[in-house]
Amino acid sequence: MKLYSTRDKSYRTDFRTAVRQGLAPDGGLFMPVELPVFNRDFWKELRGSTLRTKARIFLGETLEDDFNPEQLDRITSRAFTFDAPLVPLGNHLEILELFHGPTLAFKDFGARTMAAMLSEMAREEGEKITILTATSGDTGAAVAHGFFEAPGVDVFVFYPAGKVSGLQEKQFTTLGGNVHALEVEGTFDDCQRLVKACFADPDIRDARELTTANSINIARLLPQMVYYIHAACDSNEKDWHPPVFSVPSGNFGNLTAGLMARKMGMPFRFFVAATNCNHVVPDYLEQGEYHPGKSVRTISNAMDVGDPSNFDRMLDLYGSDHGAMAKDVTGAWYTDDQTRNAIVEVWNRHQYLMDPHTAVGYLGGQASAQKSLRTVVLSTAHPSKFPETIEELLPGSLVIPERLARLADRKKITVKVRPELQDVKAVLLS
Ligand SMILES: *Cc1c(COP(=O)(O)O)cnc(C)c1O
Repeated sequence: MKLYSTRDKSYRTDFRTAVRQGLAPDGGLFMPVELPVFNRDFWKELRGSTLRTKARIFLGETLEDDFNPEQLDRITSRAFTFDAPLVPLGNHLEILELFHGPTLAFKDFGARTMAAMLSEMAREEGEKITILTATSGDTGAAVAHGFFEAPGVDVFVFYPAGKVSGLQEKQFTTLGGNVHALEVEGTFDDCQRLVKACFADPDIRDARELTTANSINIARLLPQMVYYIHAACDSNEKDWHPPVFSVPSGNFGNLTAGLMARKMGMPFRFFVAATNCNHVVPDYLEQGEYHPGKSVRTISNAMDVGDPSNFDRMLDLYGSDHGAMAKDVTGAWYTDDQTRNAIVEVWNRHQYLMDPHTAVGYLGGQASAQKSLRTVVLSTAHPSKFPETIEELLPGSLVIPERLARLADRKKITVKVRPELQDVKAVLLS
């Protein structure tokens, strides 16, 4: 796969370089120059195949120049180890559960695929790759689990001491092996600054080949197309119809992946960009003007983003034509009270428990489902990741999955550092 930069369409690089670099040298985001396009029969024939089979087909079609067939087999079987079930709630609405991975959130798909790809690259090129990532919680968990035991890859997770919830912290501090947690006596901003400083330090660069596992990495985006394709082809309904996808969004990587699948000819009706009170993209879709701002805090906090990092990719996919984008994507946003009400309503009506992010997606899917259009809501996290909100609304409803409960007893292993490059350097060079 050849890629260009959203800032310079004449720029070209290969997939492996794009994965290593994360961002293009001019600061733009990498986009595929070409995606294969398939006809209707092809999509029909995929019906009934497993998620992993679909992953192998689509990663094969897009990355055949970058990995050989055995490598693609290994990447898909390492990354796609769990399913994405479609749960019908009735009245044309289905929930696509993307939270069956090790950290109970959809980010597992992207992180695991990227890890498997880097392992293949490290193996073939005979060198170790070091991942540095700063986290305030969720990303660290997905990256740490995704890269855990990936051959040829070392991971350092930087996080602010005392500022990450207990269970979240356990998700990336109890693995050991190739996953190292750096407990920084400072803020999340300090963590980000330190990661940047490591990249700029010649001694560290001499000793290690550094990469980040940032969510804007193209390797995290590609595998996310697969579950859209899965849901578009398979349905619980008797008559198959192309779906409306309602996507709870923050940095809009998830939605961008859906729009890329659409470019390949995937059947769909339209997409709903569903957000909480951080609604710059719904505003853009409605008014045609983009006004990024500061983020505000909500109960769906993984979507508290004031200036979404993938918005440039969305613009790029539509050649910055607002009218064209608005035909495919409608925006909708909801307050915390509406989100809470949706969680309670769906529990009372269906005994189905949604996390706050999924609830935003559910609200976004209401209008189309009421018009009898097949509607698929992407469920981005398991409710047990947000126990405070759920327990307050519906005491006793939450069953903590065993793999999460087990974590509570595991021992945290971290290296404590002051927010100084010197401390971090000592760890990385030892
Ligand atoms: C990251 C995240 C989102 C937002 O996904 P984007 O790709 O950034 O739009 C939504 N829900 C959950 C639970 C998340 O962790």
